[in-house]
Order: sequence, then C-alpha cells, then structure tokens
Amino acid sequence: MSGALAGKRALVTGVANERSLAWQIAERFFREGAEIGLSYQGARQERRARRLAQGVAAAFVAPCDVSQDAEIAALFETVERHWPQFDILIHAIAFADAAALQGKLIAVEREAFRQALDISVYSLLALVRQAQSLLRGRRASVLTLSYHGARKVVPDYHLMGIAKAALEAAVRYLAAELGREGIRVNAVSAGPVKTLSAAVLPRFQDKLDLAAARAPLGELSDGADVAALAAFLCGPDALHMTGGTHYVDSGLHVLGA
Ligand code: NAP
Repeated sequence: MSGALAGKRALVTGVANERSLAWQIAERFFREGAEIGLSYQGARQERRARRLAQGVAAAFVAPCDVSQDAEIAALFETVERHWPQFDILIHAIAFADAAALQGKLIAVEREAFRQALDISVYSLLALVRQAQSLLRGRRASVLTLSYHGARKVVPDYHLMGIAKAALEAAVRYLAAELGREGIRVNAVSAGPVKTLSAAVLPRFQDKLDLAAARAPLGELSDGADVAALAAFLCGPDALHMTGGTHYVDSGLHVLGA
C-alpha cells in the first residue's frame, strides 16, 4: 500500500470506541499504509475492539491492562508472534479516579494519586521497555498524548495535570535515552475532544463550549487533527524530531487568563 507510513507496523494502545483518539490514529495510520496491531483494556471492551480491528485489517487485537505487568508481557508475546520487529508505538492511555477529580487536589488520597500516575505515566515506561528490542534500529517512533493542563492550571484537571506534566518529562528523558537506538519519543498535546475519558471530567461540555468560543482559530481541533499530527511525527518527515510535546489545539495554549 502507498502512503507516508507504507511498510510500517504500528501498535496502537488505548482503543475504547470510535471516538477514542487511539482509534482516529489507527484509522489514519491504516490509510497511510501502516499495518496495525491494536490493544484494548479488558474483557468488557473485547467485542468492540475486535469489530473495530476489522476496519483497519488489524494483524492482531490483544487485551492489555497496563497496570498489570503480566498483561504487558502477554501483549508483547502476541506482538512478537506477529512481528519480529515493529516501527511505531502509540500510547493513548490515561486514567484518574472520577471522584478524585470531582474534589480538590488537596483532598486526593495516596491510592488515587498512585493509580493515576501508574496508569497514565508509568505505563509508558513499561510499554517502551518491552518494545525496545523490537523497535531498535528501525528509525522507530513512540508517541503519547498529553494536554495543556500539564503546564497551566485548568479547572478540574488537577490530578491529571500532574500526571501529564510527569508524562511530558518522561517523553524528554526517554527521548534522550533512546535516541542512539534509533527510537524517537514525542507527545501530541491535544485540545479538548469529547471522548469517554474526557467526559469523566466535571462539566466537560461547558469546557468544550468555552474552548470553542475562545480558540484563536474560532473552532475546536478534533481527533482527525490529532491523527494527522501523529502521522507526521511518526512518519518520514519528522526523522529528526524527538523529545517534544507538540500542540494541536486551535491555538488555545497561547491564551492567558
Ligand atoms: P478514551 O477513548 O477513553 O481512551 C482512553 C483509553 O485509556 C481507553 O481505551 C481506556 O480503556 C484506556 N485505559 C484506561 N486505563 C487503562 C488500563 N489500566 N490499561 C489499559 N488501558 C487503559 O479517551 P481519549 O480522550 O481518546 O484518551 C486517549 C489519550 O488522549 C489519553 O492519554 C488522554 O489523556 C489524552 N488526551 C485526551 C484529550 C481529550 O480531550 N479527549 C485531550 C488531550 C489528551 P477503558 O475504556 O477500557 O478504560
């Protein structure tokens, strides 16, 4: 197949449904000629994930709860069975307890904090560690998804903001560690998009409406924008880009109060 990602193999994690940013990325990468492998969290999502997988002729679709080391190891056994090496790892996973986000940051308890950082940040390290030998030497690309609440105070985002700040730091450190192995690591910082996990944020629709009204470009970015930037960053025109967090948010991040 022709396209900017022809001949590439991409493992896309974090597909929950058609709205998932991971799914938009998988579809775009498929259209650009990549071979796709998908992972989803658990039995609850299996039917939907398998149905979606058909839409991108996925080489495999496998479960993986990233809070479980054994499930990460099992995912990579599946990956290796299909692909002796691969080129692109998409990390599109985040979690914070909804009740913790409803309250104030000061009230967040240790377990909710640990879980948010474990699933949203440590999982990137755990997945990359397993992927490293399969990505090495292939001008490979790791991509994760962040949000501007990592850098500025966004109402109700507090715990996730801390997690995303750590995620963006992890991107920089991983990029420095893995560059000589031919592995690039970047983040896309996306504007707000109505997905399952975004809808958990208190008053998310109000936030969307406000963002749409304030965005310098006069309209919101969407999952297709995220997927287009992801394709660029993982493709042949970004071979010397690593360690960065790249915004696609209709300019929202340049605004002050
Ligand atoms: P989404 O469709 O709900 O995707 C989040 C994914 O994370 C889901 O597939 C979810 O699986 C998965 N996940 C949660 N806990 C997991 C675990 N323990 N193991 C494996 N997977 C787990 O929402 P999304 O908006 O596309 O989110 C994708 C990424 O984009 C996240 O990092 C998010 O922070 C980021 N992002 C989103 C926005 C936005 O406005 N939507 C903006 C900027 C950045 P389950 O559904 O099975 O729990």
